[in-house]
Amino acid sequence: MSATRTADRARDELGAFEGELIGPEDAGYDEARTLFNAMIDKRPALIVRCASADEVGQVIAFARRQRLPIAVRGGGHNGGGLGSVDAGVVIDLSLLRAVSVDPGTRTVRVGGGCTWGEVDAATHEHGLAVPCGIISTTGVGGLTLGGGIGHLTRGYGLTIDNLLGAEVVLADGRCVRASTDANEDLFWAVRGGGGNFGVVTEFTFRAHPVSDVVGGPTFWAIEQTDEILSAYREFLPKLSRNATGFFCWHTVPPAPPFPEEIHMRKVCGIVWCIVGSDEDAERAMSPMLEVAEPLMHGVGRMPLHALNSAFDGLYGPGDQWYWRADFVNEIPDEAIAQNREWNEKMPSWKSGSHVYPIDGAAHDVSAGDTPWAYRDARWSQVIIGVDSDPASAGALREWAVRYWEAVHPYSAGGAYVNFMMDDEGQERVKATYGVNYGRLARAKATYDPENAFRVNQNIQPDS
Ligand SMILES: Cc1cc2nc3c(=O)[nH]c(=O)nc-3n(C[C@H](O)[C@H](O)[C@H](O)COP(=O)(O)OP(=O)(O)OC[C@H]3O[C@@H](n4cnc5c(N)ncnc54)[C@H](O)[C@@H]3O)c2cc1C
Repeated sequence: MSATRTADRARDELGAFEGELIGPEDAGYDEARTLFNAMIDKRPALIVRCASADEVGQVIAFARRQRLPIAVRGGGHNGGGLGSVDAGVVIDLSLLRAVSVDPGTRTVRVGGGCTWGEVDAATHEHGLAVPCGIISTTGVGGLTLGGGIGHLTRGYGLTIDNLLGAEVVLADGRCVRASTDANEDLFWAVRGGGGNFGVVTEFTFRAHPVSDVVGGPTFWAIEQTDEILSAYREFLPKLSRNATGFFCWHTVPPAPPFPEEIHMRKVCGIVWCIVGSDEDAERAMSPMLEVAEPLMHGVGRMPLHALNSAFDGLYGPGDQWYWRADFVNEIPDEAIAQNREWNEKMPSWKSGSHVYPIDGAAHDVSAGDTPWAYRDARWSQVIIGVDSDPASAGALREWAVRYWEAVHPYSAGGAYVNFMMDDEGQERVKATYGVNYGRLARAKATYDPENAFRVNQNIQPDS
């Protein structure tokens, strides 16, 4: 069936529909199909902005009758473009954006199409926060269902560790609740198993009393990587849980607030987030500041939501992105040298790598308690090739893949699903879920036996 006919047929079959149906002939089509990663250019047969869980169910049924692949779009940030699909139906959740905070119970209900900036702003009004990611435009849906790493991971766990319940529209169109009291196996599966089990139209999170933090970057010259990273690998695991700092390699952006004399210098560094007093923060950071004189120490007190959006301007939509990732237990000297060498060869000034701490409260949960199998890994590393010029796409990929090949032998095996592209293969998905893959495959056989939700890091139903 042609894409035009799909849109017409959907209009006929779905009848009175509060949401929005957008086909290739419609004026808003190009804008609606655009993803955060401009390297991915997909042309769906139909994009449907659903206004309710009931409409999500109707669209799932329509797509399945037409035998069309289904993609689910939360924030549209996925590196591999898994929020869209060529010649299929995109269920776009951007109309489901309500956020409601209950300060009494410290719980937050969040529509399936929200971005984290919206949640952060609403919780901050009550002096609360839900652990989330470090860029505010990222979707709540994809980030949560994959796990969720950010500045509060050491203090309060992964985002999934703070998920209390979800409203899920299943492949058969039923809308069910998943929590410790209802459909417990589904609740287990959605806390890391991605969009494999259904469309989440509402999340309920536990929030924590976090308001202002001390945060920002400290940069050293990239040539000092060996000295700084070898100190950091000992320092970070001993740091108290109210403090964190992810390690990074970057090029200093050529703009304020970065001092002009270091613009475009390649650096290694730590991006801090400390929940506590200024004195607590100074005490926490001082062992690293004593290792060597930094080029820049740009740390100050700010609302958490300001830190969670500090890099939004730098990493806006429309750039080319290629990602590779691994979980890491130890960082031997050989890995440090490889990281330095590959970052000295960054293919563009927006490229780099981050090493996020995932210990502390994230280690309080056992490997089998959620699908996130790497509960003993200390870090989650991501390598990002990023540039605005489409002509550099090949070079970004080549650099990220070759860098990853050089450091992968020192890794724990799998990677965080949300830092993977869509070309890494089924073995890589299995390595990531490790001991939990079998249980996920059984849950998939229960909730989506025909693999209707397969545009994701796919878990195949147990036969
Ligand atoms: C600039 C940038 C910064 C990032 N920073 C972080 C970070 O700090 N921490 C971190 O953990 N991750 C981070 N990520 C990775 C991020 O978690 C993933 O890209 C994630 O997939 C984005 O979710 P999304 O909803 O925006 O994506 P989408 O592209 O909309 O969807 C991604 C996947 O999730 C599924 N999905 C989305 N919403 C739903 C839903 N409601 N129900 C069912 N399935 C759904 C989709 O089907 C798809 O498979 C970052 C990504 C980018 C681009």
